Amino acid sequence: MGHIIALANQKGGVGKTTTTVNLAAALANFGKKVLIIDTDAQGNATSGTGVHKSNIEQDIYDVLINDVPLMEVVLPTSHEGVDIVPATIRLAGAELELAPVMARELRLKNALGDVREKYDYVLIDNPPSLGLVTINTFSAADSILIPVQAEYYALEGLGQLMNNMKLVKRHFNPDLKIEGVLMTMVDPRTNLSADVVENVREYFNSEVYDTVIPRNVRLSEAPSRGLAIIDYDPRSKGAEVYTNLAEEVLKSHGEI
Ligand code: ADP
Ligand code: MG
Repeated sequence: MGHIIALANQKGGVGKTTTTVNLAAALANFGKKVLIIDTDAQGNATSGTGVHKSNIEQDIYDVLINDVPLMEVVLPTSHEGVDIVPATIRLAGAELELAPVMARELRLKNALGDVREKYDYVLIDNPPSLGLVTINTFSAADSILIPVQAEYYALEGLGQLMNNMKLVKRHFNPDLKIEGVLMTMVDPRTNLSADVVENVREYFNSEVYDTVIPRNVRLSEAPSRGLAIIDYDPRSKGAEVYTNLAEEVLKSHGEI
């Protein structure tokens, strides 16, 4: 049975998409079958895995709004073993269009159907907001993986995220868990980064992964080639740390 993990943090630019794409590829290298679901109208996970706009006939918008079966929308990515449900700018209006829809919070959950039987891991890349789309992903997921950028205001806004999680637990998904908290863009040379990592560890305790993601320029170059870091530069620090993260995730599920 597959695990459904929502990657979320309402702050933009904290590494949600980078982690989705690179964790997916690293898990696939451990032999897992992975599905990415892009739920951000920016479509960065979609382009970052080598899917060209011209090849997208239907996307997550059609699944959420037009009842198109999820599996009809799935495309392969540049990394073998990783598929994607793409997103395009069409999704930008979905928050408003979902508002009057029946069971609007459970559209994604219902659409997922038996996807767990087809994939070992489903990673949902969230938009930088806490709207209806995010409520849909929290309602559909088993757990939330929270990337936190190692910067001065790192913890700001996380209370709101936890509050949303609590609300979704109460009303739609009582078993929702924290998958883990991932420190991203850590600069090992600065005291600030070390202080922030320590603060986040105090706040989330053992939920913070041992693996931390350092700033690595190769990680920021890979998306423009439509490649995961392990394909773009397998010897880079970025490739190493995302492989370590995949290992930690698999261990936490007792799968290695
Ligand atoms: P989000 O999805 O949370 O908005 P992204 O994953 O798109 O964040 O990351 C924001 C920007 O930072 C992107 O340009 C990305 O390439 C870059 N980036 C992400 N993680 C790293 C890292 N560890 N080192 C360097 N650049 C990174
Ligand atoms: Mg993103």
